Amino acid sequence: MDKFQSVRGFHDLMGDELRRFRYVSELIREKLLLYNFEEIVLPVVEYLEVFQRSIGETTDIVQKEMFAFQDRKGRWLALRPEGTAGAVRAYIQHSLYALKPYMKLFYEGPMFRYERPQAGRYRQFHQIGAEVFGSKDPLTDAELISLVYEILSELGIPVVIEINSIGCKICRPAYRSVLLEYLSHVERNLCEVCIDRKDRNPLRVLDCKVPACKEAVKEAPKMVDYLCEECREHYTRLKEYLSALSIPYRENPYLVRGLDYYTKTVFEAVSEELGITVIAGGRYDYLVEELGGPPTPAVGFAVGLERLSMLVKEVPAQEPLYFVIPFGPVEDFALWVAKRLRAEGKRVELSYRKGSLKKQLELANRLGVRYAVIVGEEEKAGSFYTLKDMETGEQVRVEITF
Ligand code: ATP
Ligand code: MG
Repeated sequence: MDKFQSVRGFHDLMGDELRRFRYVSELIREKLLLYNFEEIVLPVVEYLEVFQRSIGETTDIVQKEMFAFQDRKGRWLALRPEGTAGAVRAYIQHSLYALKPYMKLFYEGPMFRYERPQAGRYRQFHQIGAEVFGSKDPLTDAELISLVYEILSELGIPVVIEINSIGCKICRPAYRSVLLEYLSHVERNLCEVCIDRKDRNPLRVLDCKVPACKEAVKEAPKMVDYLCEECREHYTRLKEYLSALSIPYRENPYLVRGLDYYTKTVFEAVSEELGITVIAGGRYDYLVEELGGPPTPAVGFAVGLERLSMLVKEVPAQEPLYFVIPFGPVEDFALWVAKRLRAEGKRVELSYRKGSLKKQLELANRLGVRYAVIVGEEEKAGSFYTLKDMETGEQVRVEITF
């Protein structure tokens, strides 16, 4: 029979890649707990409508990237492409708004998008996301951006934070019209996708990665010039707070993000080295209400864990490895010594191979062992072990105390 391969775009995480991944994820989780975020473990499957209604019918995700399917009863379900929609659904379902004036939640787990797989882009990837429900104050946006910046600084990844405001129900319609007007003049230079989507969702044209489209929108009107009083004030205060926190940010008037639910603040942390986005987020003040909850302003971000782990240069070294080698018929003693060393907090592997001491030490080298713990009959009788430093070759006798 043919050997099975994993499904295209679905990858196994292991070895060094997984070590980086875990390091990044642990660091972010610790940081989120310091900011007093509470974890929520969300299901991987939701009703398709949850995503359609929140992410937006005209977005790439909903139109072509969703793993949607019918269950045995014919109900439309989908594997989650992102976490915010589910978090909002849960927030409403469990009336979390009734518990606290504001709620700070984070989630972690696999997301699924039917995209063309390439370096750093998978069909199953992982995100950690954080959401704050119940605050419309730009203080919240600033604190989230600051958290994002702290994470990346601690990981040693140089980034610049790009920010923009994309307005609200009051100011965006007027901007939408002037943008549409502008786009109708440059239409012949746009890619086919943009020509198709510009009338339904003109802001998305600003986000298109096709060079011709980028060029065509260079002179496009900017949302920031059309913000209403409230949105302008919000944006100005956000910038003041970021400056107060010494966070280097760059205003990008064409940053819009690929999801429909955003209002006011949108932001991305862009790697200076590679120019790719590693963390992205924004405010979504209408989403809770649109999904059937009470009007609740909210803001959040999501971290792409694979992409972020790729950029981490080095992870802290693992604990040194001890390798217990039974030499002679002393397996019982070796088992006991290994157990004892682990109880002392050491990382220990017991040799499962038999053979000469030379063979065992060769094996130790292959396994990346730092200390060989040799236990023979003499050791057993005298309650000690022989500790050999594999780097220096130095050997000492260690008494076992009871
Ligand atoms: P892109 O423009 O790269 O497609 P996006 O706008 O679709 O990104 P978001 O929905 O904002 O991405 O998700 C946040 C983060 O999740 C991204 O910045 C990225 O790091 C990561 N991400 C998104 N899609 C994938 C994918 N298919 N594979 C791996 N990571 C991904
Ligand atoms: Mg995408």
